Amino acid sequence: MSYNNQQQDCCNCFDKIDERVFQYSNQNFGIALCRPCQDWFRGILACTSATDASISLYFALRLRGVPAELEKHDGFKTIDIAVPDAKVNIEVDGEHHNKNSQQAMRDLDRTLYAYKKGFLTLRIPNSLVKSNLDQAADKITEYLVVSRDRKFRR
Ligand SMILES: [Zn+2]
Repeated sequence: MSYNNQQQDCCNCFDKIDERVFQYSNQNFGIALCRPCQDWFRGILACTSATDASISLYFALRLRGVPAELEKHDGFKTIDIAVPDAKVNIEVDGEHHNKNSQQAMRDLDRTLYAYKKGFLTLRIPNSLVKSNLDQAADKITEYLVVSRDRKFRR
């Protein structure tokens, strides 16, 4: 997460924020957020199991103009990052998703459930987010744009 965002905009909603709010938010959350978005983010941290990798990717996508939603419940499970506009769910997976076959089967169930509702699931290893966030976020954004533009033809 960026600690040196010189632009004084909220990283979630892009409203202008003053110096004091900017400093407070960076110190407490490691990212610049306006007051309402700080409340929202506190809720995410307190009430969800969002990982650092999915939070980093979420803000990188927001920065690229993606109308993403963090920790969205779809009636079955909570999606790490949902992009309803593109009909894509993004799951940021740790290593156990590869090594644990029961977990892998649950993931497949979820992928099927989402697909029946018209949503593609994009699985991103958290190692990629940690090692190459910007390039990964660029490619995911490109994927989302293609999916959004195809949505009405699927
Ligand atoms: Zn905000």
